[in-house]
Amino acid sequence: MKRDSGIKSILQSVHHYLIFFLIIAFVITCCIMLFVSILQNTLGIKFTEDQISAAAKLTFLNVLGFSAVFTLLDGIRRRFIIIRPIRQIIRAAEKMSEGDFTVRVPPVHGIIGEDMFNQIGDCFNQLAKELSGVETLRTDFVANVSHELKTPLAVMQNYGTMLQAPDLTEEQRLEYAKAITDACRRLANLITNILKLNKLENQQIYPVAAEYDLSEQICECLLLFEEAWEKKNIDIETDMEEGVMITSDAQLLSHVWNNLFSNAIKFTKPGGTVSVSLKTTEHHLIVQVSDTGCGMTPEVGAHIFDKFYQGDTSHATQGNGLGLALVKRVVDIMQGEISVESAVGKGSTFTVKLRRD
Ligand code: ADP
Repeated sequence: MKRDSGIKSILQSVHHYLIFFLIIAFVITCCIMLFVSILQNTLGIKFTEDQISAAAKLTFLNVLGFSAVFTLLDGIRRRFIIIRPIRQIIRAAEKMSEGDFTVRVPPVHGIIGEDMFNQIGDCFNQLAKELSGVETLRTDFVANVSHELKTPLAVMQNYGTMLQAPDLTEEQRLEYAKAITDACRRLANLITNILKLNKLENQQIYPVAAEYDLSEQICECLLLFEEAWEKKNIDIETDMEEGVMITSDAQLLSHVWNNLFSNAIKFTKPGGTVSVSLKTTEHHLIVQVSDTGCGMTPEVGAHIFDKFYQGDTSHATQGNGLGLALVKRVVDIMQGEISVESAVGKGSTFTVKLRRD
């Protein structure tokens, strides 16, 4: 392979040399003929055959020498200005095609045309950076899904084995069966969320907009959690404008409220308070869900909308870290905004801002 490319480059040099040789030979021949004809016409000088043959030989040698020098200079110019940067780009592209996304094209300095190569290099580096991000997301996603699938499966396997023991009391049998049912529910939940998120991200879900009463929807969603908040003796405070109409996809928005309420109740200690408010401005609808729960640090707050991120691992079994990723995706689709304010030990407030039109 290397020998082939060596022969190729020698042939290329000969080719360049011949081109230079022919061009220079042509130019010099034209100049000499012009010069001789001027001399003969104006001064009346006549050249002998010997003189012309000596001059022709000298000219031929000059042409040979000059074209060799120019070929060499051109070769050097090409090597540094064109071939070297192109080789760097080719080498980087080869590495990237082998899956190495850390590769970068170094900048080219101090030559004519550097701007072009630097632009190509910058585009290539940007592409490598994007691909490396996508690759990390993909591998993280696969790792997270595998981990989340393994946990409930391990629970089911353990309790399934324990259920096979012959001398179980009725109480134990029920307890083990319940553990298996809970793990199944978690698994089903996880798969539903992954599918939903996948559809939202691949834009397979098109929002179906229709006008409906947002105040009513929020109250209905909140009531779904009545059992959960009563169990924890959590106070619910509401401050809702009534009859607020919205034109949007009711089913998609219900995911937002359900996830925010479920988190607020989950992360609030028994005896705490969860508040829900709905306000309108000229162009926006603003829904706030506040709790007096554990709150979160700014570091946790910065990642809560990432897929599979769980800041508070003490509640890890009650979720899968996909809830807020889904919420964010839906709010983005609705061209709205979501933000969070939180203080550790004091609580959190999630604010969703939607357009009225
Ligand atoms: P999950 O609730 O399943 O863990 P989410 O995507 O809903 O996943 O939330 C991601 C993380 O955000 C949680 O693990 C938690 O650390 C943090 N979080 C969300 N809501 C609250 C809240 N109301 N109070 C405190 N932390 C919260």
